[in-house]
Amino acid sequence: MQKERSWTEINLTNFEQNLNELKKFMPAGTDFMQIVKADAYGHGAFEISRKAIHCGATFLGVANVQEGMLLRYQGIDTPILILSPSLESEIGLILENDLIPTISSLEFAQTLNEKTTKKIGIHINIDTGMGRSGIHFKQALTTISKIQQLANLTIEGIFSHFSAAENDADYSKLQSERFKGILDELDIKPKYVHIANSSGVITSQDDYSNLVRLGLLSYGVYTDPSLINKISLKPVMTFKSRIGQIKTAEKDESIGYNRTYITPDKMKYAILPVGYADGYDFMLSNKGKVLINDKLCDVIGKISMDMIAVDVTELNANVGDEVVLLGNEHEAIQAENLTSLYNGSSYEILCQVGRRAKRYYFENGKMIASSPLLRRDFVSFDYSDDKLNTVIETAIEQRLQSKEISSLIYSDILKRFFTERDRDIHYRRNFKHSIEFSEHNRKGLESYYLTNTTLTFTKQLQNDHFYVACANSEKLLEKYFLRKDMEYRWLLDNKLEANLFDVTSAKINDIDLYHEMKLKDDCLEIRCHHPQLKELVGKEVEFSISTQTFYPKDSHQLSVYLIEMTQGVEISFVYGKILKNVEAVPIFSGRSKFPQIKENKGSITISSQPEEWVFPTSGVVFVY
Ligand SMILES: *Cc1c(COP(=O)(O)O)cnc(C)c1O
Repeated sequence: MQKERSWTEINLTNFEQNLNELKKFMPAGTDFMQIVKADAYGHGAFEISRKAIHCGATFLGVANVQEGMLLRYQGIDTPILILSPSLESEIGLILENDLIPTISSLEFAQTLNEKTTKKIGIHINIDTGMGRSGIHFKQALTTISKIQQLANLTIEGIFSHFSAAENDADYSKLQSERFKGILDELDIKPKYVHIANSSGVITSQDDYSNLVRLGLLSYGVYTDPSLINKISLKPVMTFKSRIGQIKTAEKDESIGYNRTYITPDKMKYAILPVGYADGYDFMLSNKGKVLINDKLCDVIGKISMDMIAVDVTELNANVGDEVVLLGNEHEAIQAENLTSLYNGSSYEILCQVGRRAKRYYFENGKMIASSPLLRRDFVSFDYSDDKLNTVIETAIEQRLQSKEISSLIYSDILKRFFTERDRDIHYRRNFKHSIEFSEHNRKGLESYYLTNTTLTFTKQLQNDHFYVACANSEKLLEKYFLRKDMEYRWLLDNKLEANLFDVTSAKINDIDLYHEMKLKDDCLEIRCHHPQLKELVGKEVEFSISTQTFYPKDSHQLSVYLIEMTQGVEISFVYGKILKNVEAVPIFSGRSKFPQIKENKGSITISSQPEEWVFPTSGVVFVY
């Protein structure tokens, strides 16, 4: 069982059941968009997206570019709509990451049209009475006709948003009529028309839309008590903690900050190691309830940043006992009821709860995945911050005494650092990588060396398959950084065709793996797999991957990086008589900065001490 101070359990089976319940309300032919903004309302955008796609979601909905980018980096290629208006400064990233922007004004549409070089799909948001973002319904027709004239934009969707679908049928009807009025007047028929959020799916059917946007109800939390009779949902998230300490107090002692609770009698109370910094709302001070050993206990005194006190006078409770702070186990601790104690919002508590908590994902009662403690994954914009760049680059430059190499290494390290640091830590041992150049007589490739690489290491097997990826640009390879099933990436010279990279052999232990290539968005993905691998998942196994490709003769340098914590590293560059004056420039971080460098005739090898850990982003540049 979990030993953390707090954790969340995400029940993906409940999530799937909720989706099935919601689907019963969707007319045939209606698609759904899973709303995964704010890290899927605190449930974890990646796992929720994956499950939703599995259950038939045709779109994902996010709040901003960053959220969309992160899903792309994690290998999700379903269409993603950015629901809020984007900023002009975000356009570059929208295009790069193939995200769909929402158009809420003519001005933004015009700017987007100017900035894009290829045709881009958009969804137009019409404000039919929500009074938030979107084009006001009275201006909608004239504005849409102007947007239609923008050559680079394709109107793929038009949508609106209900203000009170959960409990105001009359107003929703008015909004719906306004929306239909506009659709009727249009001389285009966008592929997707949508207005309903999850409550709208249940309360308001129409004959014009073909897509719905599922949020809170899919997470098993009711938006209004009136819906309880209409649909049966189960909360997906449970937030838990443990008793940290048990104390007793006499009558008239005070508990917590500012003495807001005075013990009415002799009592026993427990200190829980969660507070408002963990997302347990401060407004629950003296109001909240928690469940310990199936009994409800009152929160007493003010919620502190990192602790709360609960009354356990009537309980046989012990230090270490599990505490349920939010979830399905008792009505009183369901999000709706807990937040009603302070007139709060269930949407908000889901987003904030578990800020310091590791997430565990369950399916059919079995844990299938977890995400690390520092799990607020992000892709930083900041890595182009000039000052920081200069400082670090200069430092590397001084050590290497070469400006060119230092800037190369620097940009590489930074990219990896900023896209990988919140991952679960995986590690490899006995890492051996050799790269060999040789001459060849393939026509048309005279300016390239034939290049054979062999990589072996041991590592815990995560999946019954893994991928090798290859592309012509770092940009394209970047999106693979967060994928856990990616074991090897190769950057191909930009003049070469992708088919000039090949996996010649892939093995795990002694099993020869099948490998298939697929060209996807200009990246070559090679999937290595074997049915026998299923039995090895979770065990430490030996990987061995060999590839063949071509490397440009005019490059004068070759770099190899470690992307995981690695124990025992050996990297060799074999060049025979082809090259002269090869030098190895290692960039190692770990206990010792300097690996051993051994030069033989025709090859050079760098190696760390076998027992020593080397940090990710270490590597070596061979210069010649
Ligand atoms: C958040 C959001 C939704 C989801 O709403 P729920 O009430 O959680 O179902 C749908 N559409 C838009 C535009 C949103 O911003």
